[in-house]
Amino acid sequence: MASILIIEDDQRIRERITRALAERGHAIDARRSGFEGLSVALEEQPDVVVLDLGLPDIDGTEVLKMIRAVSNVPVIVATARSEESTIVSLLDAGADDYVIKPYSVDHLEARIRALLRRLDDPAASAVITIGGLVIDRSGREASLDGMELDLSRKEFDLLAHLAGRIGEVISKRELLAEVWREPYGGSDSTIDVHLSWLRRKLGESAAEPRYLRTVRGVGVKLIDPTA
Ligand code: CA
Repeated sequence: MASILIIEDDQRIRERITRALAERGHAIDARRSGFEGLSVALEEQPDVVVLDLGLPDIDGTEVLKMIRAVSNVPVIVATARSEESTIVSLLDAGADDYVIKPYSVDHLEARIRALLRRLDDPAASAVITIGGLVIDRSGREASLDGMELDLSRKEFDLLAHLAGRIGEVISKRELLAEVWREPYGGSDSTIDVHLSWLRRKLGESAAEPRYLRTVRGVGVKLIDPTA
């Protein structure tokens, strides 16, 4: 059971989802406008927010950014727009997961469960040290040689995922599924781009790698270059 905030302006969808999730034992707060939803998200700190993107008063993407500026509350975005670029930019803007409309309550609830399980993982709260790199997964902070790294949400997620299995080659397919939540699609170039940004912030390059080692045709691994 979870406390769930639904931000959805379509009355039919809002009532259907609210009723079905409440029947399953969840505590639901449903709001029809972006600003109302935003204030509830920040004041009530629900376990998870389900955010419609097409809202009457403010674009859902803006609501997402405003939530993300001040809160780590998990957000699942509900979107009718299925283009990959939109989804990638939503995930980069801080969405934890997404559902494509129209979606079933079963599907939404499964996504909520998976998300909460992932966040509950005790391993996810550990601080990991690899050489000069320190990754605090619960605080979502990373530093290199004592200097704090300014990482985007996805760069951090990517680094944290690799840090969970130091020295192990992780396939791009897995990264797309686990970090980008795109088990069936997505493109390797999404990962390549984020890897190159991450590399730059770690002060290394593909030609002169230190922590991030690409294994051609297989995937990427995080290693301790000082070991
Ligand atoms: Ca809408």
